[in-house]
This record gives sequence, structure tokens and C-alpha cells, in this order.
Amino acid sequence: MNAFQTLYNELISFLGISGWLQMFTSGDYSSLTTLDGFTNSLGPLIPFLLIIEIGRTLILKSFKGGVYKVNLYIYIFNSFIGRFISIAAVTFCIGLFEKYAPIKTTFTWYWMIYGYIVWELAHFVYHYLAHKVRLFWCLHSTHHAPNSMNLSVTYAHFFLEGPYADVIRTSICILLGVNPPLLFFIMFIDGTWGAFIHTGENILKDGRLGFMNRFVLTPSHHRVHHAKNPLYMDTNFCNLLNIWDRVFGTLRHEKDDLPIEYGITRQMNPHNFWDVYFGEITALVKDVYKAPGIKNKLMYIFMAPGWSHTGDHKTAKIVKEEFLKSQQSSSVVMQESQ
Ligand SMILES: [Zn+2]
Ligand SMILES: [Zn+2]
Repeated sequence: MNAFQTLYNELISFLGISGWLQMFTSGDYSSLTTLDGFTNSLGPLIPFLLIIEIGRTLILKSFKGGVYKVNLYIYIFNSFIGRFISIAAVTFCIGLFEKYAPIKTTFTWYWMIYGYIVWELAHFVYHYLAHKVRLFWCLHSTHHAPNSMNLSVTYAHFFLEGPYADVIRTSICILLGVNPPLLFFIMFIDGTWGAFIHTGENILKDGRLGFMNRFVLTPSHHRVHHAKNPLYMDTNFCNLLNIWDRVFGTLRHEKDDLPIEYGITRQMNPHNFWDVYFGEITALVKDVYKAPGIKNKLMYIFMAPGWSHTGDHKTAKIVKEEFLKSQQSSSVVMQESQ
């Protein structure tokens, strides 16, 4: 055995990926449904997470110095635990659903196109529900709390949001036959693009990216998604391909005469960690506690944010309709006075 082979074997055993390599080469993921196969598949988790976190810590430290030490540790802890649960959930969903897929795909360019369209649909479903079901909004709102846009917003997430997103996205993709190595490759592209579209105005003033604005979700589209202006709320749910936003009528381009106001509509302090992280959960618990009857309590949990048992709803849909009505009536007044 030559030195390279020894080094390769050492690396594979350190990373704990021999089980995955075997599954990738054989294309058989059924062992993930057995307890042994499932625990074996988690082998690469710790070394993988360690490498990511050490790398990220070094980068963050070099940018921010020692001032944010406590936040940094909280952040590392959160992302470590969150990612651990996420990877375990992804692995479990693959093992659970792979056998029900009506078609089998392979790692080829044409299945890549199919896989990406399916992935965007799955991402749309996760993201739409994150905005339209209050329980899931509690997990997602941390990401919408910042009142400005920059790359650090990519990392602003409640630690359970990743697992929630990954369970929905993985289940849909695997049920529709997306092959696991293909899925991981798509996840990698999606994660990279998903970080890039958080580029703020300081680095990229016009985020439209020229002609690409028509075909893909650009930083400009994602800025619109992060806006609390009534016209911009609950739009642009896709991540890279805007296909499902077009299909479901939620695509919204940035308007030059409507500057973006970042943040969420609830009165909150975007610089207070507790408010950003737990504010929506606290508000939901209070509403559920005060609501009369079990039906109203459940409605608060599963209806859209802003739903009220009094009938005085302030959901994004109603706020938008009221805004458009007020615009129409003010333009009528303008015309009459001319
Ligand atoms: Zn969102
Ligand atoms: Zn975002």
C-alpha cells in the first residue's frame, strides 16, 4: 500500500464517511432506515461540524476581534446544535422516504435541472409556510428582524429554523425522486447563492444584476423580501430560480420610487438579542394565553401572523389590501382637486 492510499484511508476514517461512500457508489440508501445504518451515517457529523465551526470562528474573530466573544460563543453553540439536528433530520428523511419515490434520478445535468426545480418548489413551500403560519414565523422572524441588509443577516437565524426547513425540503425532494448526492450538491449551490443575495447596499448599491434580474432571484429581490413596506411584504419566496414565485404570483421587483424599509412590523428593538431571538415566541405565548377557548388558541398558533380572535386582523394580506385602497382613494382625491 503506498503512502497516498494510507493517507486517504486515514482521512476517510477520521471523517467517518466510509458508510456514505459505500451508499453513494451502490446507490442504495435503504440501510438509513435501520438503527445501525442511521447511527453509522451520523459518523461524519462531528468532524464535519468541527471543521466548519473552527473555520468560521477564525473568520469571524479576524473580523470582529474579541469584543463579541459571548455572542460568538452563543452563535457557535446555536449553529452547532442546529446543524447537528439538521443533518440528523436530513439523514432520517432520506432513509424514511427514499423507497416511496416513484422515479429514480441520477447525478446528470438533465436530472440536475429537474432536481433544482423540485428543490425550489420545496424551498417555496418551507418559506411560504414560515411567513403564513405563526408558529413557523416564530422560527423565521429572527432572520427578518435586522433593520439593514448585509452579509451577516445570512447567519441571523433561530437555531430550530434550519431543521424545520430541512425536514420539509428534504422530504419533498426525496419523495419526488431527487437522488441524495444530487440533493447535497443542490443544497451547496443554494446555500452559497442564499448567502450572496444578502449582499447589502454598501457593497452592491444596485442589487438587480442587470438582465439576470428577469431570470433569477437577485440581491434586489431578496431586499424586497426583507422589507416591511406593505407592497413588498410576503413576496419573493424563492432562492435562486424565480419560477415558483411567477407561478404563484408572489414575484415582486424593486421599485425605484419605493425605498425599502427593512425589518418586521411588530414594535421591537432590532439591537436587543432577546427581542430578536424570542420576541415573536413571547408574543405568541401571550396571545394564546389571553385567547378565549381552545379553538382560538389553536388559531393563533396556526393562522397567519397578525390574525386576531377579535376579528381585527393585521395580516400582511389585509395590510396590503388596506394600503392599496388608501392609495386608490388618495389618487381619486388628487384627480378631483385638479
Ligand atoms: Zn422570509
Ligand atoms: Zn434573507
